[in-house]
Amino acid sequence: MSGPLFDKIALIGIGLIGGSIALEARKRGLASTIVSATNKPEEAALANRLKLTDHCSTDLGATVEDADLVIVCTPVGACGAVTKEIAPRLKPGCILSDVGSVKQTVIADMLPHVPAGVNFVPAHPVAGTENSGPEAALLDLFQGRWCILTPLADSDPAAVDRLETFWKALGSMVNRVDPANHDRILAIISHLPHLIAYTIMGTADDLGGHLNSEVLKYAAGGFRDFTRIAASDPTMWRDIFLNNREAVLEVIQRFQEDLFYLQRAIRWGEGDKLFDMFTRTREIRRALIHLKQA
Ligand code: NAP
Repeated sequence: MSGPLFDKIALIGIGLIGGSIALEARKRGLASTIVSATNKPEEAALANRLKLTDHCSTDLGATVEDADLVIVCTPVGACGAVTKEIAPRLKPGCILSDVGSVKQTVIADMLPHVPAGVNFVPAHPVAGTENSGPEAALLDLFQGRWCILTPLADSDPAAVDRLETFWKALGSMVNRVDPANHDRILAIISHLPHLIAYTIMGTADDLGGHLNSEVLKYAAGGFRDFTRIAASDPTMWRDIFLNNREAVLEVIQRFQEDLFYLQRAIRWGEGDKLFDMFTRTREIRRALIHLKQA
């Protein structure tokens, strides 16, 4: 690459995802200037101490001024209000994107505020950890992970290509998917597993008293994996479930039916049904390893 891909990148929200984009973009020399903004002064001060970007402030409007690429990295529920606030200060011709884990409602919330001449290209990096805030930012977070772009029918093809180049430069593999399909896919691969983890932890906690402490004392293997997932940020996940309501309710319904099938097989001693199911799922795991996604 001859020079930086962008002159100025502005990140609104500087937690795990915003901070990781900043670290990676700087390491790879993708912008001359990288700035950020967040809503709490103490978080901005922390981001500055960690030197995640050239400067972090609480002035969202000033942060996006003159930026060629603006990425909204807040929880999904804040994307609309943030876009409304920064809209008057966006540079004509800039690319406006996001990283939200739900696409249809985020697009519906942001789009009405996008000024004419600004290229809105929604995106979702399918990469993360259970940690949040500026201290959670990580180099290599996006390495070998998918970033899903969900361009709109009238998105400028050159802007979509440029954002794809950016995510590839961060180490991601990029695909373009229709927003409704994105939400259905994420409901099963990410949102339902989180809901199950939250439920199992709640069930274990409700066991109470002596059994509760024994559960935590011997927690290992599968349960420990669930505790990690269930430690994910409450604000982010509240917003995801409320915003991907229909797709999540649909997969919960199907999951419940499949759970009843296994429950019934256990009750009636139908070991062949259990064995067949577990053989099928083991094959899926092996296929994922083959695809380097596990
Ligand atoms: P995070 O670590 O909690 O960071 C969110 C950032 O947004 C914080 O800096 C927060 O600041 C700021 N913020 C919240 N409300 C704001 C507002 N109204 N105005 C300005 N800044 C605001 O969350 P994250 O994990 O980076 O997630 C950010 C987005 O990425 C979410 O939309 C999520 O769906 C998506 N995503 C997450 C993951 C994951 O695994 N975590 C993966 C892919 C995509 P304060 O703390 O000061 O409020």
